[in-house]
Amino acid sequence: MKSFYTSLQPGIVRIEHHPSWLAVDVIQGCPASCEYCFLNTQSLTASIPRYTADPSNVVEELDKHFRRIQDKTGINAEEIIPICFGNNTDLLLTKLGQESLLEQIGSVRHRFSKAILIVVTKGKLNKDMAKRLVDCAGTMVIVFSISFLGQRYEQGAPHWHERLKGMQIAAGTEGLIPVHYWRPATSVSTPNIETAAKQIQMLKDAGSIASSLIGLAIGPGLGSYYRDSVERTSELRSIMSYYRLLGLKSSVVTTGNPEVKDWIINEAYGAKYPIFVNTSCMISYASKQPDYSAAYSLPRRYKRCHPSACPPIQRYICYRCWESSKTPSDKVQNVISRYLGISPKKIVGNAPVVLETPIKQEDLYCLQMLVLRSIEPTKIVRNMAWLIKHNGK
Ligand code: SF4
Repeated sequence: MKSFYTSLQPGIVRIEHHPSWLAVDVIQGCPASCEYCFLNTQSLTASIPRYTADPSNVVEELDKHFRRIQDKTGINAEEIIPICFGNNTDLLLTKLGQESLLEQIGSVRHRFSKAILIVVTKGKLNKDMAKRLVDCAGTMVIVFSISFLGQRYEQGAPHWHERLKGMQIAAGTEGLIPVHYWRPATSVSTPNIETAAKQIQMLKDAGSIASSLIGLAIGPGLGSYYRDSVERTSELRSIMSYYRLLGLKSSVVTTGNPEVKDWIINEAYGAKYPIFVNTSCMISYASKQPDYSAAYSLPRRYKRCHPSACPPIQRYICYRCWESSKTPSDKVQNVISRYLGISPKKIVGNAPVVLETPIKQEDLYCLQMLVLRSIEPTKIVRNMAWLIKHNGK
């Protein structure tokens, strides 16, 4: 099984703390080139995937990461923070990616038996791969990314009909949990409410148990990409003018037509199909647990939880968890001050927790999962790839 590592470039395993999971990326580059992908700004689309880190170190690096959290805070985060493989490539699109995914996921499952494991893909899934995934991972979540935009906007990726077939195969494979990324939802792909209803029905028929309807993070990096390609479609032009109209420097825009989101959510309620506006809520639902990323915490609840078409049973699970585990503010304060190495005096309030200090984006995401509280620092130091500023500043 080592043969495909011949071109391996040794390095440090990339682990980033994203808002919904720990992202593990030992392969960079995606053969597809979707118009809206955040990898465009890093020239990682339409490229040959290659190893930039040693995959045999994944378990060791994750181990170190969780140990660092435990040493600092006393919290065992192995069962709290989900692990997602392949955010800087699509691991199912190439043979290299598939073999690497199987090896990584097998070794991680062996070490972290209860961790929530995830892969996001626009690739095809056949029965053989589905079986091999279960053999390696036991249970895992597969997020099928389907925007319904068509291949004109997603060159190099299989048609979304093929992805629905993969979803069906996952749904028929015990251990695989198929969910859906609706990103981006646009008025090109969903021009009216009738289409929204049909698309939801297709997802249900294919066995998807829930969707996450989230926008594209348009920071200055992505903004510059859209400026360059804005002539290609009226949709992108309308996104950008909407964006400029609001005078936003960094925001999340789902569509040029704000009604699209409402159509989808309304139809989801009618169809009794769960759609979340927060990816971690979808993962919480799929893994049958209360929200793990402070989406239920006030004031985030108004923006992250209330607008979702979340089933009543899941709302009850989150409510029960929130009511029964009201973490005392001194414990929250203690965890945050130990994690950041700052004086407890700089931490005030409980919901939200206000920090009188700036913190890095990845620390914010991690801490919110550890204390289940919305955290508001004086400034978020952005260090995630899709928010790298234009000109590298
Ligand atoms: S109740 Fe709210 S926080 Fe919990 S999973 Fe549903 S939408 Fe998310």
